[in-house]
This record gives sequence, structure tokens and C-alpha cells, in this order.
Amino acid sequence: MSSKDMFPEYRSEMEYVCQDCSSRYSAMELHYTCPSCGGVFLLVDKNFDWLGENGGNYWREMFDARAASKDPALSGIFRFYELMAPILERQDIVWLGEAQTPIINSTSKLESEVGQKLAFKNDGQNPSASFKDRGMACAFSYLQSMVRLQGFEQILTVCASTGDTSASAAMYAAYVGDPIKSVVLLPKGKVTPQQLSQPLGSGATVLELPGYFDECMMVVEYLADNYRVALLNSKNSWRILGQESYAYEIAQWYDWDLSGKVVYVPIGNAGNISAVLSGFLKLYRLGIIPALPRVIGVQSHHADPVYRFYSQPLDSREYQPVDVKASVAQAAMIGNPVSFPRVRTLVDQYLDKGGRDSFTVVQVEEQEIIEGMLRANKYGHIACTQGGECLAGLLKSKSEGLVDPGETAILDATAHTLKFQEFQEKYFDNDFPPEYGIKPKPAYVNRPEAVFSDEMRNRMEKEEYIVQSAGEIVKKLGL
Ligand SMILES: *Cc1c(COP(=O)(O)O)cnc(C)c1O
Ligand SMILES: [Zn+2]
Repeated sequence: MSSKDMFPEYRSEMEYVCQDCSSRYSAMELHYTCPSCGGVFLLVDKNFDWLGENGGNYWREMFDARAASKDPALSGIFRFYELMAPILERQDIVWLGEAQTPIINSTSKLESEVGQKLAFKNDGQNPSASFKDRGMACAFSYLQSMVRLQGFEQILTVCASTGDTSASAAMYAAYVGDPIKSVVLLPKGKVTPQQLSQPLGSGATVLELPGYFDECMMVVEYLADNYRVALLNSKNSWRILGQESYAYEIAQWYDWDLSGKVVYVPIGNAGNISAVLSGFLKLYRLGIIPALPRVIGVQSHHADPVYRFYSQPLDSREYQPVDVKASVAQAAMIGNPVSFPRVRTLVDQYLDKGGRDSFTVVQVEEQEIIEGMLRANKYGHIACTQGGECLAGLLKSKSEGLVDPGETAILDATAHTLKFQEFQEKYFDNDFPPEYGIKPKPAYVNRPEAVFSDEMRNRMEKEEYIVQSAGEIVKKLGL
């Protein structure tokens, strides 16, 4: 079979379902939030249950065959086409290399230090170096179908960002080109230099506002309510849908058997955790995986509204946004997560199907987060601070007796460590402002060592300098 023949024929109808008032709207209309009540949506395939009639094995074999194909339209999130957006045509699909990220087992040394089998899923190996590309590939493919079907002359996409959303949106907009244009709003000084350079390099219009992300988000929403723009924040349900591919990939990596696996996910705006829960639930409902993995969300004590909600007793839980404090897990530094209503419904469904240990949230400290990252990377990983947060979450959940020594932890390294180098630098230089509450430990600090001063170099001829400096190196290394 040539790979072209593998593009599926199945087409369905999709709907937006409001998580607050249960209103439904056709996915053929561009909706950001519920026109009736302003709530957030999840997207559903109206014929989803029908897919289950094929049996799990049919889908496992199909997805595995597509994973071996070289068809760009089936190489990323749409190798799970039927679970993703079976209303799109081949020509709508944009793939920039996302959704092929590896799961890297930790070395036995790190495992014995931690006392647990663990692996990182390196979502920083997506093209803009974070998991946001999964959702963006879905949102842009959908936008392309809208342009084709509705003949839009121009679409202006807007997003507020803690850094990675804008990097991703700008990259996809730059690739797709006319009639889609991208504007990004960033909280000034609250994204890393690398994250700022990304949308600039992609040619997007970059606008900076004072304050934290939560306020930027309100400005963007005001724009969406009053002008014709497509919002690409994670309130956009197409993004959540694309991010479900993270769960599908984990299942595929482990040959569709997730028993004994615990998946750790950092929670910021709570889009990713929603997608992960929704993705595993879909696989389970179709019989593609026989058992749900356990999922543990992780939050910093400086931005922990979801943790606070789930740590209350079951019958008296109240949701309260929090005022955030400075966090090295900056991409998750959000006090009022827009996807919280999604989390709430999905967690109820998850606990119902997976049992009462199948989902929980732990809280970790800033010091533990940064040291989680530094420790992982000392053993060859490429974890960002949010990946470090997951390792901290694993240690925390172990200390609370929430994981069994026989289980394997899969930690979400949501971005590439290079995006968050300034936090490593601050740690090495003992340069954190007091609000972080981080004090470096010598064991994690690493700095360049000067071998020779400029002054000494200038006193010598080149030949002598080569011999002398080599001699210094021999002394230092004890060669
Ligand atoms: C966006 C982001 C998060 C937080 O994900 P949410 O979906 O907002 O919870 C975590 N890590 C990185 C690197 C991110 O870019
Ligand atoms: Zn509604």
C-alpha cells in the first residue's frame, strides 16, 4: 500500500460542548467560548461510540501502521485522525514535525537515587521546543479548513502567552502564511529571552504589556469579544484536542499497555492536564488501552489553585483563584487557569473509570523544582523547569506514599531546557530575587573555570602559551 492510500476515508461531524451549560454548537462554526454562557468547550465527535465497534485491535494496528508511514499528513497528531478531527481534509493539515517526541528512560543511577523507575517524555523536541506545537498544529489545520470552506479573506490570530504559546503560534502562522496573520501579547519581562526571540524571528507582531499573564489574557479576551480575531489561547478547544496526542503517543510507545504507569503533568492554565485526561479516556472507551494509567498533576506552591481545590474534602470543595508569586516554572505561573472547568469534569470521569487513586495533584516548592531540573539534566536529560517540577512531584508523591515502588513514572518535560537557561544561570550565580526563596546547593552548581588569565597570556609568545596552558590543564585534571 502506498502511503497516500492510508489517508482515512472516515468523515464525521464534530460539535463544541460547553463545560458549564452543556450547550452544543457545530464545529463548522468558529467558536472560542460558549456564545450562551461564556464557558469553555471540549470538542466531540458525534459518532465517537461507533468507532468502538471496530475493537481495540483494529485501531492499534491502524495507528501503528501510520506511525511507520512517511505521509506528512499522517506523521504528526493526525496519525490518530479518527480521534483527532475527522472533519479535516488532507490539504488542510499542517505538520512541522510535531508529535514524534521520544520517551527517554533515566539511567539506573538516577533511578536508584529517586527510588523509582522513571522516564522523561521530551516534548521539548517538538519544533518550537514545547508541547504547545501539538495543539497549534490542530488549531492551524482547522483554521486552514475554515479558510477553504468559508473563503475568509483574512484571519488575524491573537494569543496571550507565558512564552511558548506565542512561539508556537507565530511559527505555524509564519509557515501557513496568507491569509493567516499572527499577533502575540506578552507580559513584559515575564518570558525568557529565548521565548521572546522566537515569535520575533517568525515575523509575528509582538506586543508587550506590563503585569503578569493573567492580565494579558483579560486584554486578549476583551479583543476577542469586541473584534473579529481568532484566539489561540488554550481556551480554544482545538488546541486541547491536538494536545490529546501526547496521551496517544505514550500509549503507542508502550504498545498500548499502560498498566503500572504513572503520568506526571505540570499544571499552569490546565490545558495540558485536560488534554492528557481526555486522551487517555478516549483510548480506554474504545478499548485501545485495557487500563487507564494513573495521572498526577504538579503545581508550585507559588501558583497552586488546582492543588488547593483537590486537597479539600470531597464534599466541600471550592475553587478559588490565587495570586501568583514568582516561579521558575514560569510557563505554569498561572493563578486562575482557564481550563479549570474542563479539569473538573474530566477528573470526575477519570476517577469513575480509573478508581479513586487514578488522579491526584501534588504541590512542590520552588527550590525542589529548580533542583529537579538540574538533577535530571546532570543525568543526560533535557528537562525544562516544568520538567523539573514533574521530578519534584514524583519525589513529593513518593514521600506521601502515593506511588508504589513497582510503578514507572513518565515525566512530562514540556519544553526544551534551553528555553529556561536563565533560571539555571540564576541558580549557579546565586542570583535569585528573594521572592523565589531559592538558595543554591554546591552539589548542583557548575561554572566555567578560568585556566589562564589574559594578563599571563599577554606576557608570552604563542608557543610558550600553548605549552603552559596545556600544563595547567594537566594539573587541574590530574592527567
Ligand atoms: C504552557 C506550558 C505549561 C503549562 O501547560 P498548561 O496547559 O497551561 O497547564 C507547562 N510547561 C510549558 C513548557 C508550557 O509551555
Ligand atoms: Zn455554555
